[in-house]
Amino acid sequence: DQLKKELIVTAWEKNRIQEKVSFGKRTSLPISQQRKELPVYNMRSKLIESIKANQFIVIVGETGSGKTTQITQYLNEEGFSENGMIGCTQPRRVAAISVAKRVSEEVGCELGGEVGYNVRFDDRTSRKTKIKYMTDGMLQRETLLDPMMSKYSVIMLDEAHERTVATDILFALLKEAAKARPELKIIITSATLDSEKFSKYFNDCPVINIPGKTFPVEVMYSQTPQMDYIEATLDCVMDIHINNDAGDILVFLTGQEEIDSCCEILYEKVKTLGDAIGELVILPIYSALPSEVQSKIFEPTPEGSRKVVFATNIAETSITIDGIYYVVDPGFSKVNSYNPRAGMEQLIVSPISKAQANQRKGRAGRTGPGKCYRLYTESAFYNEMLPNTIPEIQRQNLSNTILMLKAMGINDLLNFDFMDPPPRNLLLSALSELYNLEALDGDGYLTKLGQRMSQFPMDPTLSRVMLSSVTNECSDEISTIIAVLSVQNIFFRPRDKQQQADRQKARFNHPYGDHLTLLNVFTQWEKAGGGQQFCEINFLHGRHLKRARDVKDQILSIVNQLHLPIVSCRGDVDIIRKTLVTGFFMNAAKREPSVGYKTIVGNTAVGIHPSSSLFGKEYEYVIYNSLVLTSREFMSQVTSIEPEWLLEFAPHYYKAIDNNSKSRKKLKLAPLHDRYAKNQNSWRLSSIRQSREK
Ligand code: ADP
Ligand code: MG
Repeated sequence: DQLKKELIVTAWEKNRIQEKVSFGKRTSLPISQQRKELPVYNMRSKLIESIKANQFIVIVGETGSGKTTQITQYLNEEGFSENGMIGCTQPRRVAAISVAKRVSEEVGCELGGEVGYNVRFDDRTSRKTKIKYMTDGMLQRETLLDPMMSKYSVIMLDEAHERTVATDILFALLKEAAKARPELKIIITSATLDSEKFSKYFNDCPVINIPGKTFPVEVMYSQTPQMDYIEATLDCVMDIHINNDAGDILVFLTGQEEIDSCCEILYEKVKTLGDAIGELVILPIYSALPSEVQSKIFEPTPEGSRKVVFATNIAETSITIDGIYYVVDPGFSKVNSYNPRAGMEQLIVSPISKAQANQRKGRAGRTGPGKCYRLYTESAFYNEMLPNTIPEIQRQNLSNTILMLKAMGINDLLNFDFMDPPPRNLLLSALSELYNLEALDGDGYLTKLGQRMSQFPMDPTLSRVMLSSVTNECSDEISTIIAVLSVQNIFFRPRDKQQQADRQKARFNHPYGDHLTLLNVFTQWEKAGGGQQFCEINFLHGRHLKRARDVKDQILSIVNQLHLPIVSCRGDVDIIRKTLVTGFFMNAAKREPSVGYKTIVGNTAVGIHPSSSLFGKEYEYVIYNSLVLTSREFMSQVTSIEPEWLLEFAPHYYKAIDNNSKSRKKLKLAPLHDRYAKNQNSWRLSSIRQSREK
């Protein structure tokens, strides 16, 4: 049972081990020696010279060559940190934390000392910090207060090929800062050969290639398209395990749920193999995993056994696992995509690009000649996959980003130095969302409210609710709700005890909906002393609740910095719900007997998510936090409201339609303008502003 918990299956065929372990054997050299073995080590003096001679450089190198962990240390050792920190950005929070941990071990200091990290709501740096890893989002936030990046001597924009919105924005902001500060050094690193584009953008700067120690990887394609890629994946892993030489396996899946269930199914399958076939250590890796569990993937596989790691695309470039000989690539990843017409953000499982496929393949050739199993056809690879992934800035909701740019005084978005400009409709819908939230005025200028909203590292909808709560005197309750919404699901629902877990959850349910339910749970957990026992009895994730408490503290410290009061309404549910409406009015839906609900804007048929405390209830009007697309469109985090509140708090957005009904209960609402007409309008307004500037 202990073993089962660890998801470990025993025994690799004995005599086969004897022959083959030497091939996959791990070394445990001292750290100083390990550092010298990395490909980047031989390039050290060339890199340092080039950085001294140029303000911008682009560094290209295979994943695992030592860019992220070593270059910062070289710069530190060469004295660059005397005039400011060496900052290194990562697109993912997990990578920032894990790399900072590793580097602090290599440097031999405690985490948060000379080496630290800063990710949203979690700052592990101190005055001593010289090497700072952070998410690109955090550095983008820092530019709000310090556009010149005066705390840094060098900034390394790592994993630039990922093209996150924050990295793309930082490209332009750092280019500006560098103009004003000739001594500031900017390094852009990338795993792919997109380097020419980066170099061109950064004034034709030099490109340095780090020759990697890579081995050939044999590619195997599926003969026919796979109907069920999960099944195909599991079959492929079993086949490798039973029929192939020693060496660990890396499998790319799209998300946490998929990974967890694959681990479970595979565990059951391997159990049936018996003693003849050997030990298979099954490990998951995704962002939401606690970091203690994550670090397991770095532990060497016990002699004679094989490891299989099920990963999201985090293992494409951000994290390097040694000893991988086999890669299984079903060809999909989850992509965040925003549909401005419907006003909703969706995570969609989509085919990966050719560049991604090749990156995945490369993971098999780091320790020796490897094999990559592509669970799609060769023709799909050549004819159907896009050459490169579309940059996030061209497909995500940009309201948060644009609010920050506006707060920095950057109003002329048309002439902003985007490496790849976002499509017009994304800019339009972000501008109109901010206008509707009253963060921008009719001329596209930041309002006082917008200025304050920009101080909170969260979605503008949430920062708007937060600020309304100050006026409505319920900032204590609202900060709790926002904090809990910002962390991972606090409800624990183990597969084998779902009903029990649901019963416990139901005891916290608030009749008016999920936001109040979350408040309820958090308040009771705190009242009970915030301990683990309370969580176990009630099927709650203690770790997530603790994190929510930290997030709440940080939100309140921003409220304090703005010299605003923190007040409790003593749980007045109407005040709390009205306050939610001030931000979420665009996410409102009306009951429609045959279909469930219909969104007021867009008229999309939606249902209440089965996990909601309003599931099965029949309130006329509700607001929701987000829409999720599974078997159908579901509203998630739903709260019932009165329709009058929409008119009261968003009179600029809604009108009542007279449908001859006498009773007030039958009040019918419609958006004042078609969403698009309004977009055009606010676009015109911001262009007026631009021509005025010129
Ligand atoms: P790159 O940025 O070029 O992809 P890294 O600097 O991240 O390369 O990694 C260099 C090497 O450091 C990896 O090959 C791996 O052996 C080791 N390494 C990196 N992170 C960790 C970690 N968290 N634990 C153990 N080893 C690590
Ligand atoms: Mg790296």
